[in-house]
Amino acid sequence: MQLKYDLIVIGSGPAGTNAAITMSKHGKKVLIIENRNYIGGGCLHTGTIPSKTMREAALVLGSSHKEAFGHVEELKNESTHQIAYTSLIVKLRNVITTEIDVLRQQLSRNQVDVVIGNAEFINSTCLKVIDANGDTSKYQTEFVLIATGSSPNRPKEVPFDDHVICDSDSILEMGANLPKSMIIVGAGVIGSEYACIFSRLGVKVHLINKYKEVLNFIDKDVRSMLMEQMKRNGIMLHTEMDIESISITKEKKARVVLSSGIELEAGKLLYTQGRNGNTKKLNLAAAGINIEKYDLIKVNEFFQTSVPNIFACGDVIGYPSLASVSGEQGRFAANHMAGKNVNAMSDLFPYGIYTIPEISFVGKTEEQLIAANIPYVTGTAHYKEVSRGLIKGENRGLLKMHIHQENLTLLGVHIIGYGASELVHIGQAVMAFNGGLDYFLDHVFNYPTWAEAYKVAALSASNNLLELQKKA
Ligand SMILES: Cc1cc2nc3c(=O)[nH]c(=O)nc-3n(C[C@H](O)[C@H](O)[C@H](O)COP(=O)(O)OP(=O)(O)OC[C@H]3O[C@@H](n4cnc5c(N)ncnc54)[C@H](O)[C@@H]3O)c2cc1C
Repeated sequence: MQLKYDLIVIGSGPAGTNAAITMSKHGKKVLIIENRNYIGGGCLHTGTIPSKTMREAALVLGSSHKEAFGHVEELKNESTHQIAYTSLIVKLRNVITTEIDVLRQQLSRNQVDVVIGNAEFINSTCLKVIDANGDTSKYQTEFVLIATGSSPNRPKEVPFDDHVICDSDSILEMGANLPKSMIIVGAGVIGSEYACIFSRLGVKVHLINKYKEVLNFIDKDVRSMLMEQMKRNGIMLHTEMDIESISITKEKKARVVLSSGIELEAGKLLYTQGRNGNTKKLNLAAAGINIEKYDLIKVNEFFQTSVPNIFACGDVIGYPSLASVSGEQGRFAANHMAGKNVNAMSDLFPYGIYTIPEISFVGKTEEQLIAANIPYVTGTAHYKEVSRGLIKGENRGLLKMHIHQENLTLLGVHIIGYGASELVHIGQAVMAFNGGLDYFLDHVFNYPTWAEAYKVAALSASNNLLELQKKA
């Protein structure tokens, strides 16, 4: 007997679970198919949650507040370090187990069925699931949402053994064996975040980047502050470097030869260049869907594929590949399937990068404003100008805001430093309501707070604007 659903969701990450719960709230019968043993997707098991749990623990272990108080003990010897790292792994498992429980309860409260096994299309309205025992079941459906996420790129010339040479999934399987040194290939978001985390944990990190600077899509001042901070934290940056070869030595070390001729050796190598959509196991041809570059799926503004009853959301459609955005895409797509009137999805989303220090931004960068010929003025606030920063001992940070020179609306906010990923939402809200300079100048902010940085930056933007007007 074939079970029939209104919606079958493939993948139980943020895109899939948000879509499933939304659709079920519209009174529809929903099934999620997940090919890992546990629900939660890459987000919970190999992506956002493990990396951010490790970061939080690394901040505590690496005593980020020592400058403020001067007496917090640093990890002095290797054995203390290994014990601390072992507790980090235990903490990580606890976080994941609790998150799985919360998610399971949410799905069950909303009567969403879950089946564990690999989903593949038989045709556009029928799917086959093969479970771990090789047993097959078939399901009929009106709609399908493909929310299968993405996986690390593993080029053939890199000899991955998932022990010495790892990707961002297998690096999490090293258990309590923290290496003394690590080579990280790729200074994108994942590579830069892990470089900061492992370096804070006392690992000697070499970060190799093809380009002159790390994270070349972020604000230039934020980027140079990050690079400066990375160097202060002991990360060895090898920029504008191509890789000649990657190998494993007889002594089981990772070895990299760079285009400059420099040879590096380390206990582990983490390769983080690129990700591909998880589409290979879906038999998409049977549904009439083409696979695009990097194994991604093409969708329209409603997240609908070329086959009208089949939708795709999250990492499997590419940019921006964030858990935050994937969840919203899932909700949006489900509302659209259910025939609800939904506004076009806002493209005003914040970007959070959990390096140490963290970075967050919303809206346009200076490069984008210049390219679009938009007249703007910038205001800045350094954390050392903000009392809360001095009290907390976190005085290395920057908040930059761009204001439209004529209508004074807020065009973008770029932050590096403590609390950046929370602070950015003030800017996001002001932008969403078309607010601008006046809001920051005319309202009282709690004192002392990090949010005061907005006030300081607004006063700076206002002064810069006056200067421009004087010159005009
Ligand atoms: C190291 C790292 C750190 C990150 N940090 C952040 C962060 O701080 N903030 C942020 O917003 N984002 C972060 N991300 C990105 C975030 O994890 C992803 O954007 C998010 O997980 C995408 O959600 P998704 O629902 O599209 O897919 P996923 O969460 O990947 O879930 C997809 C699920 O579908 C399953 N699946 C695949 N194929 C099939 C099939 N054929 N049948 C059944 N099931 C299938 C997969 O096994 C997986 O469990 C990070 C990613 C990584 C790798």
